[in-house]
Amino acid sequence: RFPEPRARDARSRLIVLAGPTAVGKGTVAAHIKEHHPEILLSVSATTRKPRPGEVDGEHYYFVDDAGFDDLIARGELLEYATVHNAHRYGTPRAPIEKALAEGRSVLLEIDLQGARQVRDAAPDATLVFLLPPSWDELVQRLVGRGTEDDEERARRLRTAKVELASQNEFDYRVVNAEVADAAREVVELTKAFPRPS
Ligand code: 5GP
Repeated sequence: RFPEPRARDARSRLIVLAGPTAVGKGTVAAHIKEHHPEILLSVSATTRKPRPGEVDGEHYYFVDDAGFDDLIARGELLEYATVHNAHRYGTPRAPIEKALAEGRSVLLEIDLQGARQVRDAAPDATLVFLLPPSWDELVQRLVGRGTEDDEERARRLRTAKVELASQNEFDYRVVNAEVADAAREVVELTKAFPRPS
């Protein structure tokens, strides 16, 4: 179980933000980070290479495969998964434990496999599924950002279909039509206690 309930401050919530590719999880999380510095946005470890402008320790902790294996072996990750059949991503446990114990809420922006692991490891986490306004809008967003080729796009859309079918596993669903509105809804959930049954 994670973290020990006795070490927890009742005001602090562990919120998991998941959802299909291109729905805007990263944008919503960045918006929350900017406007709500009291909430800790967890920084993941990843084996993928930094993109231009990405800073180690800020956007991700960039590690090689051996480094990632090490984190797993030392039990330092709350969850980890291989995402889009490519690279490994994982959530460092210690900063989250510390923040929750201090009464700070924590936001994780992770994929669906990771969300399920957190649900099992931390049953009092709040799971939020971010939805696009429509399927067509999701396709537009993926095409619009232009970071994937046709084949990769098709693969991500197939995964997105499967993931959308899992939305009922989540405690809450938030539609990302306007980033600021979606962010506000997620922030409200960090104050919600207790979770729905
Ligand atoms: P990107 O490489 O575009 O930054 O992220 C790719 C995907 O990895 C996103 O769907 C993101 O939610 C997911 N991701 C980022 N960090 C983690 C993590 O710590 N754990 C898991 N399971 N997924 C993550």
